[in-house]
Amino acid sequence: MRTLVFSDIHSNLTALEAVLSVAGNMDAYWCLGDLVGYGPDPNECIERVRGLPNLLCVRGNHDAATLGEVDQQTFNHEASLAITWTKRILNAESQEFLLSLPEKIIEGDVTLVHGSPRNPVWDYVMDYMTAVRTFSYFNTRICIVGHTHVPAIWKEGVDKHPAGYMMDYHKTPILSKTILNPGSVGQPRDHDPRASYAIFDSDKSTWELRRISYDYTTVQDRIKTSGLPWRHALRLAEGW
Ligand code: ZN
Repeated sequence: MRTLVFSDIHSNLTALEAVLSVAGNMDAYWCLGDLVGYGPDPNECIERVRGLPNLLCVRGNHDAATLGEVDQQTFNHEASLAITWTKRILNAESQEFLLSLPEKIIEGDVTLVHGSPRNPVWDYVMDYMTAVRTFSYFNTRICIVGHTHVPAIWKEGVDKHPAGYMMDYHKTPILSKTILNPGSVGQPRDHDPRASYAIFDSDKSTWELRRISYDYTTVQDRIKTSGLPWRHALRLAEGW
């Protein structure tokens, strides 16, 4: 079974459409959360994701904040402005979908969480030492996370490389206990502005990270007309 694994769309429909179109028909779709926040297309992104076949999707911190479930003070000022804006324009169907999202899903030998199995919505697995501590918090062979917006692979006791920057874009066999991060569709932060996602083949047990360019200028235009903070538009051009 080939599964499209994607995360942190952040209301960027142009990036999401680019990923879905280049990936083609997949057997299943796994989303690691943060469908909304920062960007201009929250309802459109939720509608697109909820219609995907064999979808598994967990809740991210921006999704939770948009539902009013966490204190917005924990976000930086400009992220908080986007959450307030998103709350205002989120329709009933979108709200219902976000409310339906669990914090953690276990599917076969895979655990899916937004942040980390230790604290599903909030923790960042950003470096090898955090990854080492995280291995004891899940019992499946594989744990897939998002939240950092930086693609990463950590194999227990093997990989000591920092996340991102030196990622391998070929198919990686996943043979031991591993933490995987597909990076971010709608707001990559590894200085590569292309949308990031991964293909997980559960029969062959391989993970293939991929990137796709998209026209971020149209997203910047919509950010401008929406009145969202310009910083959220600027960063799309450089991937930070
Ligand atoms: Zn995010």
